[in-house]
Amino acid sequence: MRVLLVEDDELLGSAIQAGLVQAGYDVDWVRDGIAADQALALEGHELLVLDLGLPRKDGLTVLRALRQRGSDLPVLILTARDAIEDRVRGLDLGADDYLVKPFDLDELSARLRAIGRRRAGRASPLIRHGALTLDPAARSVTFEGEEVSLHPKEIAILEALLESRGRALTRERLEQLLYGWGEGVESNTVEVHVHHLRKKLGKELIRTIRGVGYMIPREG
Ligand code: CA
Repeated sequence: MRVLLVEDDELLGSAIQAGLVQAGYDVDWVRDGIAADQALALEGHELLVLDLGLPRKDGLTVLRALRQRGSDLPVLILTARDAIEDRVRGLDLGADDYLVKPFDLDELSARLRAIGRRRAGRASPLIRHGALTLDPAARSVTFEGEEVSLHPKEIAILEALLESRGRALTRERLEQLLYGWGEGVESNTVEVHVHHLRKKLGKELIRTIRGVGYMIPREG
């Protein structure tokens, strides 16, 4: 899952980035409000972690503009301990949750997972599909009761397809999920990962939608 991190503090930003990568997220990090606007305009992210005290344009202004554009991107705001008013305003402007600095990185990942679950309308932290279970927190997959060894990028593809069951995702969309900016993308990478997933989880699971991309059909 691809996260946009907006944080101007270098030390905190790099710690958050490392923590999120560890938790299985792909992270793009920008350091001011204008860069945040530009990154958000690309619509390639599934979560936004937004510091409120930012150079060039403050986080509340970024958030307000995002919601005014009609975006429902899940947003977690980061606020200073004494900034209760900002927290309240952020939530009123459409933030999904907040964390007060300093915070624990494990708590940040747990809150992001909770936001993801609420958005997907799931109370259970596990994604189940037939004999398949994906644990978004542990980044693990079991199939017919056995743990399956998968590359983190394969888990990311599988998670995205499971989250949008019944809807095809384009190859470009899946590529976007996998790569941060500036990384080279091999043209057949998604195909290779899908091939591995089919080998390990059965070739019926992921359908190729010709000319579009891939889909996991709904059960039943
Ligand atoms: Ca700041």
